Amino acid sequence: MDGISPRHPRAESLRIRKRIADGFDRGLVVAEGLAAHGRGEAFDYLLGERTTREAKRAIRAAAAALVLAEKPVISVNGNTAALVPEGLVELARVAGAKLEVNLFHGSREREMAIARWLHRHGAGEVLGVDPKFSTRIREIHSHRRKVDKRGIAAADVVLVPLEDGDRTEALKRLGKRVIAVDLNPMSRTARAADITIVDNIVRAMPLLIAAVRSLSRLPQKRVEKIFGDFDNSSNLRSTLRLMLARLRRLAAGSLR
Ligand code: ATP
Ligand code: MG
Repeated sequence: MDGISPRHPRAESLRIRKRIADGFDRGLVVAEGLAAHGRGEAFDYLLGERTTREAKRAIRAAAAALVLAEKPVISVNGNTAALVPEGLVELARVAGAKLEVNLFHGSREREMAIARWLHRHGAGEVLGVDPKFSTRIREIHSHRRKVDKRGIAAADVVLVPLEDGDRTEALKRLGKRVIAVDLNPMSRTARAADITIVDNIVRAMPLLIAAVRSLSRLPQKRVEKIFGDFDNSSNLRSTLRLMLARLRRLAAGSLR
């Protein structure tokens, strides 16, 4: 029992918040991560805390990119590890992707705690924690410039959930195909990525895993078409219109 009444109108949101708070207690999440989560919650509220049709479209395109990738990598930060550890491990497995710990507010201790947490949830190899394989991306000025030679440095497709804009832009400049999961359709991350899933990572992750499974069975040509037909800017605009329409209905009093 988590002590959250199922009748509370924000019950699911509170459960997710508790997971982040537990992650903070375990040393996976930093104080800044709690604040970033709050920013996400506000945008989730505007979405109506549901997976939109636009998000489903982005999830399908993201699955296509992962299936087509030769060297896909899933970048893991503290919030993501705290929220969806099993999902990260399962996605890595079905997509044949590597997991790499990559932190904005980095410390050796926290890197190791996150890697242990992933192992506890069934992860095999976790990159980003062995200094022997670490290299630097010159374009980035935070701790996150440190990447794994076997992982993000060599990747063709990188999934960056809950990412910072600077790094997304740097990964793009390096020629990587970037998939973001970000509740804010206006963030630099959302706008710089090739595919942005505007949804809560908690809801998007199981859908992404299912989509990778189903697209893996399709002929390559069809998967390429799904990827090629996706237009990120138009999908983001359409998500923003949806948020606006919801605000208008709220303002008109037709939505409680
Ligand atoms: P950017 O640097 O891309 O312009 P930002 O500075 O506004 O973005 P950051 O603090 O760098 O934001 O990153 C946190 C992002 O993660 C926010 O955009 C927030 O909406 C998003 N976010 C937080 N929690 C979740 C979640 N559970 N699922 C999906 N996205 C989330
Ligand atoms: Mg930022």
